[in-house]
Amino acid sequence: MGVGAEPDESIQAAFFIMPTQILKSLHDEFLELAGLDAARAILFRIGFSSGEAVTRKINIQVNGDLTLPETLTSLWIEMGLGRIIVTELPEGSLHVECDGSTEALALGQTGTISCDLTRGYLAGTTSALTRKRYYCQETDCVSAGNTICNFELTVREG
Ligand SMILES: [Zn+2]
Repeated sequence: MGVGAEPDESIQAAFFIMPTQILKSLHDEFLELAGLDAARAILFRIGFSSGEAVTRKINIQVNGDLTLPETLTSLWIEMGLGRIIVTELPEGSLHVECDGSTEALALGQTGTISCDLTRGYLAGTTSALTRKRYYCQETDCVSAGNTICNFELTVREG
């Protein structure tokens, strides 16, 4: 049996800052091992659980002082995944514009929409902030040749 060290304590105040080389390696290795569709789904899921965990860890919630877009933006500054502008859409949906996505910069020009860890992270963070289940799609990506990355966050029913 291992020593009962609580890993949670050592990362209590640690924000998520992913080195670009690890981002690139994660993409390359999952693509090689699992193929494109599975790789994208795995990266989304890793991002989701990381975003959810970090948001719960720092115990931040949307309250009367800040709107959801304001809370998400201020939290995102600490993540090191790029700068975002968040706009509220009807039915709880959010539009997120990301300038200088760290993931896209790490991957370079892939010719396709590529920020799968980032969209997972956005969905996980927003889900933890709202206690609803969010999904995130990327509609434009710097890695695909667009000038910025655009994301749509939508509440997932059921
Ligand atoms: Zn992107």
